[in-house]
Amino acid sequence: MTTLPPATHNLGALSQELVAKGQKYYVPNYKPREMIIDRGKGATVWDLDGNDYIDLGSGIAVNSLGHQDPDLLAALDAQSRKIWHTSNVFFTEPPIKLAELLISSCHCVKRAFFCNSGAEANEAAIKLARKYAAGRGRPPEKREIITFVGSFHGRTMATVTATAQPKYHEGFEPLPPGFRYCPKFNDEAAIEAMVNENTCAIMVEPVQGEGGVMPAKPGFLKFLKALCEKYDALLIIDEVQAGMGRTGTLFAHEQDDVMPDVVTLAKALGCGIPIGAMLVGEKAAEVLQFGSHGTTFGGNPLMAAVAHAAVTKLKRPEILQGATDKGEWLKNELAKLNHELDLFVDIRGRGLMVGAELKPALAGQANAISDAARKAGVLVLVAGPNVLRFLPPLTITQEEFEQGLLRLRNALKSVLESLS
Ligand code: PLP
Repeated sequence: MTTLPPATHNLGALSQELVAKGQKYYVPNYKPREMIIDRGKGATVWDLDGNDYIDLGSGIAVNSLGHQDPDLLAALDAQSRKIWHTSNVFFTEPPIKLAELLISSCHCVKRAFFCNSGAEANEAAIKLARKYAAGRGRPPEKREIITFVGSFHGRTMATVTATAQPKYHEGFEPLPPGFRYCPKFNDEAAIEAMVNENTCAIMVEPVQGEGGVMPAKPGFLKFLKALCEKYDALLIIDEVQAGMGRTGTLFAHEQDDVMPDVVTLAKALGCGIPIGAMLVGEKAAEVLQFGSHGTTFGGNPLMAAVAHAAVTKLKRPEILQGATDKGEWLKNELAKLNHELDLFVDIRGRGLMVGAELKPALAGQANAISDAARKAGVLVLVAGPNVLRFLPPLTITQEEFEQGLLRLRNALKSVLESLS
């Protein structure tokens, strides 16, 4: 690994050509950084021009075992030589073993449904909640789902509607009906005032990710569960970003001492291959009967074999403890940076899901900082315009982490200089 960050970031001819083609051919819904990532190992990635970057974003909480993990490579290789896909018309071994592993790892779930993404896992949970209420004889107007301001649940029509952030809704109206938004996260009175006999589910993230890295306060999820029980509604916990060890326990909700009715997963479940899951507790385990829901690729044996290897490794006590310890180290380093450079009003999160909220004088600069960081050789995410978001691989080494923070410091100093 180089010890000095790349001083400039000049694109080579091939990179320039590819960037230009990407910008020309893709639907312009993304704005990828102008570089071509070519390969990765551990928590380091390299671009086509040979520059290295410390990856503190894990492809948005996906590559939790870093890049080229040997156990994942072995699982992928072995299964790729057996069978890739059969459809759900047939059983195969890997998804059965994956379902067994997940269910035996989570005390409150009985059945699993596999899909391809977080949005699909949440879409399945939304459908399940509606069907659950329908089965209780409730008409459509009594099948409302409540979510929280700042939440993020996906981009399909139902999950984007569940996402209580107007900026994601604009222009996509008419939105599907039956969603209500609680105007305050972590506020018992606000949610209690909204839940009633028309509510069929509350959907919540244990740590809001896209919404600024906001952890649920102690006792809040338990309070939601009690409300759901009172009104015969389902508590859906969206662990797409916070799950699979990132917060220091395999399931983030374990730390909240709560029994969700539904848990949704994706991202780090496959550590880089596309797979999502909806896990269902006793109360609703039999709701989605034959023919009621489905997907062609979901639980495909190739994906499931890799996910099985991923979950087996992510469950290891040293990985989980590492997430907690490294998260504390990171928060401490960010606090030191803050002490030196006066940048943040808050540094928060759980485990290796950490957010640093910029002080008002730096409002709106998160993207500029992320871009400067990239040029200094470290990949950092944002959560909205004012929060830097850190989701490094749980396996990041101390050396990589220190190098990443050093590069971040350089980037922050250059941004501060450019603003002064
Ligand atoms: N739920 C949460 C909490 C997420 O953070 C995301 C993605 O960022 C999703 C759902 C949607 O997942 P996907 O992008 O895989 O559809």
